[in-house]
Amino acid sequence: MTDLPPPTLRLDLDTAALAGNWRALDRLSGAATAGAAVKADAYGLGVDRTVPVLAAAGARDFFVAHWSEVPAVIAHVPATQVSVLHGPASEADCAFARSTGVRPVLNSAEQVARWRNTGGGACDVMIDTGINRLGLPHGAAALDALDGLAIDTLLSHLASADEDSAQNTRQLERFREACARIPARRRSLANSAGIALGAAYAFDLTRPGLALYGGIPRADMAAVIRQVAYPRTSILQVRRLEPGDAVGYNATFVADAPIRAGVVSLGYADGFLRCWGARGALANEERRLPLLGKVSMDMVIVDLSNAPELREGDWLDVPYALPEAEAASGLSQYELLTSLGRRFRR
Ligand SMILES: *Cc1c(COP(=O)(O)O)cnc(C)c1O
Repeated sequence: MTDLPPPTLRLDLDTAALAGNWRALDRLSGAATAGAAVKADAYGLGVDRTVPVLAAAGARDFFVAHWSEVPAVIAHVPATQVSVLHGPASEADCAFARSTGVRPVLNSAEQVARWRNTGGGACDVMIDTGINRLGLPHGAAALDALDGLAIDTLLSHLASADEDSAQNTRQLERFREACARIPARRRSLANSAGIALGAAYAFDLTRPGLALYGGIPRADMAAVIRQVAYPRTSILQVRRLEPGDAVGYNATFVADAPIRAGVVSLGYADGFLRCWGARGALANEERRLPLLGKVSMDMVIVDLSNAPELREGDWLDVPYALPEAEAASGLSQYELLTSLGRRFRR
């Protein structure tokens, strides 16, 4: 087969911004060092493009969620630098951890027993301090069951670090108590937003994800975090709408004057969902190109009145400054990144 022809969708990454974001988060982590959450294919941006950049910037601790995400990451960094957050659900997972050299994060008494019974060894342990997602209960009884484990990193995860919530101090207090009971080489509590809560939350290792990729979970991080992901799409066809012409699925937009419109390659499978709505827009060189009608499967239609010279094949920007995109779409910054589809050439 000959090479693939050029795509109509591109995801451009500002790798200097990615490296800069890691360094900024490492600095903000104070005496602690910053790791990197690279689960979900580095939040949709691509492990192959991002992990080498993060490693070159200085990251030495990488977190994935699924065992299936391990091979792509250890193609770039030593397996001893990788932890698997969902932990071992089976003996096969334990065997996979030992054969690759990555560490499981043990999240329950069952997972602790499974890891011990298959031979033990270096592991991480997640304590639930109040998110009620994964993790061993923070009470003394559950913690005593960890005696004798070779714990590299003791973790917990904040539920509301992006808000000034009393839950943060409550979780911090519980994590401190757990740390006092359980011997471990390192301790780690803060995600991206948690880093902004200050030195008390940093411990030995922080685990930013979202902010590495340009997410701004707290307004006070806007000054140091830069946009990394720039989705771009192109015009498939230019057409002239006459007054009375309806556009797209369900004909929700009807032209009341002649309009030069662009049919653009961008749809549901690319992560561009209907919630972008009738108030959304694409852009070209800072010029706003309003969406007309509904996202219609693999396409959107935009008003080209502000950019009369554009023609078929020209590139448009999808507005992905994440706080603004969150406000425009109603999707969280996490969803905006992780839903970018496979058809973007990365
Ligand atoms: C995803 C995840 C992170 C990163 O969180 P962000 O909010 O994206 O910075 C850190 N720790 C754990 C356990 C996670 O699941």
